Amino acid sequence: MLNEKPHLTLKHLTLKHLTFNIINVQITSEYLERAIEQLAKLPGTGRKSAQRIAIYLLKQNDDYAQKLAQAIVDLKEKVTRCSICGNVSDSDPCKICDNPKRDPSAICVVEEFNDVYIIEKSNEFRGRYHVLGGVISPMDNIGPDKLRIQELLKRVGEDDQINEVILALNPDAEGEATSYYINKLMKEYDVSVTRIAYGIPMGTELEFIDEATLSRAFASRNSF
Ligand code: ZN
Repeated sequence: MLNEKPHLTLKHLTLKHLTFNIINVQITSEYLERAIEQLAKLPGTGRKSAQRIAIYLLKQNDDYAQKLAQAIVDLKEKVTRCSICGNVSDSDPCKICDNPKRDPSAICVVEEFNDVYIIEKSNEFRGRYHVLGGVISPMDNIGPDKLRIQELLKRVGEDDQINEVILALNPDAEGEATSYYINKLMKEYDVSVTRIAYGIPMGTELEFIDEATLSRAFASRNSF
């Protein structure tokens, strides 16, 4: 290969060229190539990382590969969404909606299901959740109809026990706009709307807040 390019000698090659060529030479397996192709589709994973992961997997024992493959299959086949709150769950309704010990009077509205885990870890909130599945974002073409807002209205309208809706959306522009939108809709219902107090600078996402701050934010939530 190098002989075909007489002007390009080894000393002109950067490490990047060498790595690229070495990896290309190493890939002599269709199966390996196929695995790399699929791994490279994972978020934050370019082709190079995918190559590294594939080679790592190749070096692991069969048991690990089987467990990983089965975990991925189970993730797709067995994990479902709770039809009440929209949270990911192995059962419908989820364990939180189905738990009689949870406070039936309060619903905490969050953007994504991982926010539920973050709030649960803080141990401050004993009510139930409502996962919107995103926030209103005209830039990304996400209008209210693409979120689980109608389901929230239905829930609040049909369940007399609910008397507080706590908005725990991220304090960024989209989160704020969505909070205002929901608050406006809630005026039709006999519930108080509150929002958690962050006590941290605007723009910080829920997942970056420590548990103590989140506990305080819940304890000192304000009327919208
Ligand atoms: Zn649920």
